[in-house]
Amino acid sequence: MTTISNTKPHVLVVGGAGYIGSHMCKYLAGHDYMPVVLDNLVYGHRQAVRWGPFYNGSMENKELLAHIFNRHEITAVMHFAAYCYVGESVTEPSKYYRNNVSNTAILLDAMVENNVENFIFSSSCATYGEPNEIPITENHSQYPVNPYGRTKLMVEQMLNDFQNAYGLKYICLRYFNAAGADPQCEIGEDHRPETHLIPLVLQAAMGKRAAISVFGNDYPTPDGTCIRDYIHVYDLAQAHLLALEKLLNDHLSDCYNLGNGEGHSVKEVIHQARKITGKSIPVRISDRRKGDPAVLIGSSRKAMEALGWRPEFADLKIIIETAWKWHTNHPEGYR
Ligand code: UDP
Repeated sequence: MTTISNTKPHVLVVGGAGYIGSHMCKYLAGHDYMPVVLDNLVYGHRQAVRWGPFYNGSMENKELLAHIFNRHEITAVMHFAAYCYVGESVTEPSKYYRNNVSNTAILLDAMVENNVENFIFSSSCATYGEPNEIPITENHSQYPVNPYGRTKLMVEQMLNDFQNAYGLKYICLRYFNAAGADPQCEIGEDHRPETHLIPLVLQAAMGKRAAISVFGNDYPTPDGTCIRDYIHVYDLAQAHLLALEKLLNDHLSDCYNLGNGEGHSVKEVIHQARKITGKSIPVRISDRRKGDPAVLIGSSRKAMEALGWRPEFADLKIIIETAWKWHTNHPEGYR
């Protein structure tokens, strides 16, 4: 077998056909890295893979992983291939533990066997559970309140054990609410089913759904609706690359929050979306969604100080504008 000799460092992006993974690939390619995508296309889109080689398969496929590690000199692995529907994780936990935990263990085993040392993990603020204090820092206790959050925490713990036993080096990035789309509108968010607030609000603006359901308006917040910390997907990508470079330089494992440190209520998001789209966006008040904390806002001071992370698209207006541009240019998503 021929090994592809690297003119640029190759990064294996597992889940690179998905929403955040595809933006990461574009960002890597724009910064002199070669993204190598492994994705089973269960939720990802082939059309979103444009910046490097593509392998159609799952991270549980040991032979395929060995083939990729033999073929490419992989500098690091970035893992975006977890299932991410909180509600589904409650009704189908087995699916979540199998994919998010067991399959990740297979991926890590393959890395150890093939001497690939550096791992960047998409973790989540869901590992913290119900917050005791706002903003949430990395030292906050981690008591996740749903299976999805538990799978993310288990991987964080597994990574620490793999480091101690096998010398694997990792950085966990705990995202708050990823949103927005590629400012050049080449790729965007196309989840099926869609459950996230901003794309659903925009679908309502486009007339693709009758109204946006607001899950509860009796929370202890100024307008009664939940407050979240929305972070642009391209700012997430920037943080991943900074994390990778720090890991390659310092060889020190660590965890960082990624959020803007600023909260927006569901009503504020809808209000901002009405201004940007010029559409009325009908609202229906529904019951609370189970497991939704009233307020989730992260402190990302550590990422800013240690990684030099500077979000470029922090403004909610820009986040919604880039998403709107993608939705209006791709009314049927990738189809
Ligand atoms: N939300 C809502 N209606 C929807 C989808 C979401 O009111 O159709 C609310 C949800 O309860 C939460 C916020 O919007 O307070 C963000 O939800 P999302 O699912 O986008 O992200 P999460 O915070 O669950 O990761």
